[in-house]
Amino acid sequence: MDNREIADRLDAFATLLELVEANPYTTRAYRRAAETIRGAPTPVEELVRAGRARRLRGIGPGIETRLRELVETGEIAELAELERELAPDLIGLGRYLGLGAKRSLELARALDVRTAGELRDAAAEGRLRSVPGIGPKIEAQLLEALAREAEPRAREGLLLNRALELVHGVAEAVGGEVAGDVRRWRDSCEHLAVVCAAPDPLPVLERFASLPQVVALVEQSERRALGVTVEGVPLELVAAQPEQLGTVLVRATGSAEYVAALEPLPTAADEEGVYRELGVPWCPPELRDQPFRGEPPMLVEPKDIRGDLHCHTTWSDGRASVEEMGRAARDRGSEYLAICDHTPAVGAVRGLTPDDVRRQAEEIAAANGVLAPFRVLRGIECDILPDGRLDLPDDVLAELDWVQASVHGGQRMPRQEMTKRVEEALRNPYVRCLSHPTGRYINRRPENALDLARAFEVALEEGVAVEVNGLPDRLDLRGEHVRDALQAGLQIVCSTDSHSVRGLANMTLSVATARRGWATPADVLNTRPLESILGGNRL
Ligand SMILES: [Zn+2]
Ligand SMILES: [Zn+2]
Repeated sequence: MDNREIADRLDAFATLLELVEANPYTTRAYRRAAETIRGAPTPVEELVRAGRARRLRGIGPGIETRLRELVETGEIAELAELERELAPDLIGLGRYLGLGAKRSLELARALDVRTAGELRDAAAEGRLRSVPGIGPKIEAQLLEALAREAEPRAREGLLLNRALELVHGVAEAVGGEVAGDVRRWRDSCEHLAVVCAAPDPLPVLERFASLPQVVALVEQSERRALGVTVEGVPLELVAAQPEQLGTVLVRATGSAEYVAALEPLPTAADEEGVYRELGVPWCPPELRDQPFRGEPPMLVEPKDIRGDLHCHTTWSDGRASVEEMGRAARDRGSEYLAICDHTPAVGAVRGLTPDDVRRQAEEIAAANGVLAPFRVLRGIECDILPDGRLDLPDDVLAELDWVQASVHGGQRMPRQEMTKRVEEALRNPYVRCLSHPTGRYINRRPENALDLARAFEVALEEGVAVEVNGLPDRLDLRGEHVRDALQAGLQIVCSTDSHSVRGLANMTLSVATARRGWATPADVLNTRPLESILGGNRL
């Protein structure tokens, strides 16, 4: 078994554990182990056989036992059992219909159905109403949901990192191209789509239906199939005639509003051909959320980014040391990296006191000795206290190369209070950047009540930049807000907020989000060489 197959099985196990509402820590541990294995440079099967799997980060004795079972027998017995019992395709369909896993199972038991297809048949026969707890109203809702399948919409979008992995995996497996929300790098993906060129669509559609990522087919026609993932997210496959691939790709990339404004689309084999015939300049997918026919700007690209100004180490809640983070950033081609650990007010994790900040300086100096000419910067992610003061005294902040200010606790403050709090922090002469300005967690926590327009005004007056945080569940600022910030005249910083060496890869997500906000290289502070960032405390 190669690393990818092993990781896929662990992921499947995690998903089923989620469905049975197992301990979330266990589920997360399996997901993390899958991620480690997917990125491991050596064949994990060999490590397992040699009894050395626990050398990998995040693999404890429990997971090691499962790995041994998987490598030796080709299967994890409990996983196979769960798959038999849980009928994931049914639960996938249930989620798509807005039912939780438990409710789907109850429904399946009451109707004595095992598969998604049998559930549909039962619904068509009018048997839903025979289930205790399902009255005419809920029955009507379910029937309506089953009928509106042609319009793929998820209840809750997938985080971009999960969606990227899922859709790229499917595209690779069917030899197609990524389209839909993933190609536009939406922060939360609801429309997952893959297109491929196929003179004969049948083999591709069959391959698609057999993929482990597709737990149920909701709909199928001659050249199109709509599957659903175990999370209940619809996943569309279009098998295009080769001479129509460009047209199909534009349509499947969306957004619907953008495409509608371009219609009627000419037929072309590639996307460039479509745009050429329309007489419209080719448009980067990130800009296709609204109708646009103009000349797009030269958007910032990952290769323009010279360094990262926000990461954590073992001094607070990161998993790697200062030197490990610096070395990894250097090996990725960066010129500099600011270490921005937390301050004490963050609460849930360890924060740096003034004393710690000065001790960390020695470690940073030592790392610079080893890594030069690469530069590790002394930074901090300083909490903004509820009254707007910062969590470290000014004389400590004055020593640092780079100060990020963040709201962590007390995020439910009313708008006026929150805005005053942030304004106050932006006035501090040492603050260079406002981290994750809105404080949202995608699908989990709404944005703070902060008056963003006012915060942008003050940031401009004070020469403070705003962050585009690249953590997949933050992506904060998001695209629309980046655009507002740039229109207000601000500079943005593309950051990873990485808590591990692997987290440095989140720069791609940050840059994509900046691109969705129409950012050019000149708009992004960390496309500049270090001297021009460090010159003086303000921009
Ligand atoms: Zn933070
Ligand atoms: Zn952070």
